[in-house]
Amino acid sequence: MKIAALLRGIEMTTRPIQPESRTALERRWEQLPEHAKTPGQLLGRAAVGCEGTHGVFPKCNLTCSPCYHSADANKVRIDGAHTLKGVTEQMEYLRSIRGPRAHAQLIGGEVSLLPARDHAAALLAMRANGREPMSMTHGDFDYQYLLDVVLDEDGKPRFDRVSFAAHFDSLMRGRRGAVRPRDEAELNPFRAKFADMFTTLKRDHGIRSYIAHNMTVTPSNLDQVTDVARAVMEMPYDMLSFQPAAYIGDDRRWSGGFDTVSIDAVWSRIEAAAGHPIPWQGTQFGDVRCNRTAITVNAGTRSTALLDPEDPRDLAARDRALAHFGGMIFGDTPAWIVAVKVLRALLAHPGDVPFLASFALRLMRRAGGLRAVASAALHRRLSFRTFVVHNFMDAADVAPAWALMKQGVASDDPKIKETQERLGACMYTMSHPETGELVPACVQHSVLDPGENVGLRKMLPIRVLPQPPADGDLASTHAATDSAGSRTRKG
Ligand code: SF4
Repeated sequence: MKIAALLRGIEMTTRPIQPESRTALERRWEQLPEHAKTPGQLLGRAAVGCEGTHGVFPKCNLTCSPCYHSADANKVRIDGAHTLKGVTEQMEYLRSIRGPRAHAQLIGGEVSLLPARDHAAALLAMRANGREPMSMTHGDFDYQYLLDVVLDEDGKPRFDRVSFAAHFDSLMRGRRGAVRPRDEAELNPFRAKFADMFTTLKRDHGIRSYIAHNMTVTPSNLDQVTDVARAVMEMPYDMLSFQPAAYIGDDRRWSGGFDTVSIDAVWSRIEAAAGHPIPWQGTQFGDVRCNRTAITVNAGTRSTALLDPEDPRDLAARDRALAHFGGMIFGDTPAWIVAVKVLRALLAHPGDVPFLASFALRLMRRAGGLRAVASAALHRRLSFRTFVVHNFMDAADVAPAWALMKQGVASDDPKIKETQERLGACMYTMSHPETGELVPACVQHSVLDPGENVGLRKMLPIRVLPQPPADGDLASTHAATDSAGSRTRKG
């Protein structure tokens, strides 16, 4: 009896796609609007989409223009107990609705304002619910803070790997050493220093990392995207993500011309930096008007796109991989279990082998050939890099579109119709266990954040100085008196 149970356990553990994952993916596919059900769509076939926290630490100590957080965000005190409770409840809800595995951002205000122990506890709560957490930060913290997050009181690693996304651009004010950057290039040493912390972490403590570089793009820095991308590609970032600015969040931080920065304009500048096309049409993550993603393979000095959407053989390999491997869980899984899962999938679909093998050969050829790839691998210069452009929408469109969607009404207005289509295919979700809702991040920031922060401001007030300063900058007053000990946020 015990042996039978053991064998059943091994069979389930090594099953390529867990039944719960399959159910979650099928439900996700079912919920997608028809226009998003394309052959390259990853939602519902390989992943349920990204997730993010909200309302768990709204405050930030830098100033961005634009800022997606509501005007009240800086009037809410950082409180580790509140953070942990909120993160846990949101993640448990996401786990119950969206299945056992997803990538989730620990996001809200500035994550490094959390005491390190609370930051670590939040990451563990996310992991406990099958979420692969990414801490979203402005990157202006010291190495010691990182150590305090990832090491326990005895100096032992709490994690075998961590994931951070750092936001660097010249639209930010208040960074130590670059309070008011004149251009993007001035931030390159800070970008490099941030990435170097994780190289040191791996060397000294064996903790692996996945790090992303984020940049908001407005007309004022659009033409610097190529130089930024070129510089960051020389640094050990795994992902370069760009967000064209939208009229969302704090309207005191808006300026003109955001709508002139298109997703195509940003992408072409990334390609100019890479020195070769990065075709993204082979895969889709949600709606192509929201999000564009592509992966490159880097073999030493040569780099190439992972997938060539012009090559039908690549597309056939993609289709096979999505059909038979999509939803396979690799993270937090011992290597031998992953190997058995892959083997079982291949044994179940032996016809995939020639497709996948010929894809691998073509990819190797594009990356410079066997010798170049082998040499890069030998010298640890073989890597993958992900490029993303995420195009948030304006609050003025999201609010009416969402109000109608809640009533089950499809708008006839072309702009609101497009907004509804994009919201329906959203790949970036936030959870509201208190109402049983999952909402797109655009809706969170456009519709829900202001009310949520009014409530949080009452629940977690910041002690105010008896005498306000002459310039009446209440947010600075709060930052200066915040019991979390953050520095003044204005540069
Ligand atoms: S609806 Fe908004 S949050 Fe969702 S994928 Fe589109 S731009 Fe992103």
